[in-house]
Amino acid sequence: MHETSIAEMLCDIALEEAKKYSISRVSSLTVQIGEMAAVVPEALKFAFSIISQGTPLEGAQLNIEIVPIVAWCSQCNEPFEVENFSFKCPGCGMVSDRYLSGQELLLVSIEGKKEGN
Ligand SMILES: [Zn+2]
Repeated sequence: MHETSIAEMLCDIALEEAKKYSISRVSSLTVQIGEMAAVVPEALKFAFSIISQGTPLEGAQLNIEIVPIVAWCSQCNEPFEVENFSFKCPGCGMVSDRYLSGQELLLVSIEGKKEGN
């Protein structure tokens, strides 16, 4: 299940951020994940709740925003949104291999209590 490895990456990033801002207990975090990763949000939340056990992330609310895939057609010089994983440009039919978005794994925000509070 690849949600597990994504959840692991996510925990690594979030723990690093929490450390940077001296957050001892994370209450919620928001992530943007490209549609390309094809994650099932519920599966990712489940994997996250397991992996975060025993860390400052335990019990944190995970908000997931899926970023649509946008590709670039070099023939039309225009971006187009990829639907149903069809990478053909709707304008000219050329298959694009340049993506402007859809591959991200971004931690957008993290909230929690600072150490000592
Ligand atoms: Zn095109």
